[in-house]
Amino acid sequence: MDNQAQLAKLGLFDARVPRYTSYPTAPHFSDAVQDNVFGQWVREIPENSQISLYLHIPFCRNLCWFCACRTQGTQTDSPVRGYLSHLKEEIALLAQNLPKGVTLSRMHWGGGTPTLMAADMIEELAEAVAEVVPMAKGGEFSVEIDPNQIDESRLDALVRHGMNRASVGVQDFHPDIQKTIGRIQSFEITRDVIGMIRDRGINSVNADILFGLPHQSKERIAETVQKLLSLSPDRVALYGYDHVPWMAKRQQLIPTDALPTPVQRLKLYETARRLFLWDGYREIGIDHFAKPGDGLDIAERTGRLRRNFQGYTDDTAEALIGLGASAISKFPKGYAQNLSSTADYIQRVTDGRFATGRGHVFEGEDTMRARMIEALMCDFRIDRAEITRDFEPKPGLLDRMFTEVSAAFPDMIEVTPAGLEIRKEGRPLTRIIARAFDDYDMSKAGHSPAM
Ligand code: SF4
Repeated sequence: MDNQAQLAKLGLFDARVPRYTSYPTAPHFSDAVQDNVFGQWVREIPENSQISLYLHIPFCRNLCWFCACRTQGTQTDSPVRGYLSHLKEEIALLAQNLPKGVTLSRMHWGGGTPTLMAADMIEELAEAVAEVVPMAKGGEFSVEIDPNQIDESRLDALVRHGMNRASVGVQDFHPDIQKTIGRIQSFEITRDVIGMIRDRGINSVNADILFGLPHQSKERIAETVQKLLSLSPDRVALYGYDHVPWMAKRQQLIPTDALPTPVQRLKLYETARRLFLWDGYREIGIDHFAKPGDGLDIAERTGRLRRNFQGYTDDTAEALIGLGASAISKFPKGYAQNLSSTADYIQRVTDGRFATGRGHVFEGEDTMRARMIEALMCDFRIDRAEITRDFEPKPGLLDRMFTEVSAAFPDMIEVTPAGLEIRKEGRPLTRIIARAFDDYDMSKAGHSPAM
């Protein structure tokens, strides 16, 4: 049996599995975590430590058909200004609870489209955060930039307030594909915006592209990757398009018969992957590429690569606080997610309370399994000594788990005294293998295709 047939037999082309940006995954959150728990976890952050902050801006000028993000379209600034005032109230609440001397190791603005905020809104938000929790020395401030929604004044405002990493959405450069997914963005606009970013001294540029789009062929994805390489991004995320029109209604506008098959998706991924590797990029985890010397590359080489709700990171802060509607926070004791509906979020913050709506308190083997899954997603291996040292598993438990998983994935896994490792040929199965360490009910909805 060749490798593709073996991957097919092990479920690569049929399974729907979590992306494991958290463990347990968000469908397992419950209303057990509310604003009082969130406030307590904030107050438990050690004085003078570093945290990460995520700010969610759930607005876009136009809603792209392929996108399943929680966001709403608006042609005017007034709902965004209203939301911003509530986000500032939430930041003020955080200030009342945050211990002394805490600084930011990372701040990320995402959405939605954070860059639809006018320059004065950007200033207002950045100043509100800086008053409460200043950036640590060497900290990173990144912003998701929509090339269709940015101009010199907004970019200047971001740079003035310390933005030092820009994340640019690309998807695919082919006009036919752009038309079919409802997102028109020419190569020239993307090139010019990246030029404007670099002209302002920002030398860290990320780009996101998608494989598995309608009408995408090997030739077309190769052309997109080559065009992207001509812009020399420092990091690239190569995500699989997830067609879930029953959940993301806008996707009903995308013709299902134009979508590639799972086998074609693997070929699209491999085509793009090879081009990045030929160009000297290093492969990071399951779907990222980075230039040698980039922070993710260094983290990967030194075993410090981590995974959070934004994907791969070299951030080592123990607490990630998410503010804004639907934003998720992670603390040493568990996860907390804000109310998803913008109206509910606004109501709660207006009442002077944190907007937590659900979450999860770690219990039992949660943190050990979370680390094992994260280690597979980041390094394709689990270090027996690290798990034993940090989690003191019951005698024989690791051996039992490793034996079962290696029997379930013959020829794809190696178990040694040092731990468990996914072989190169088994790496497309990483999320399926990670699932074998997941102790929660898999029938919960919300997973994406393994390939
Ligand atoms: S891709 Fe970006 S701009 Fe388009 S709908 Fe999604 S968040 Fe909005």
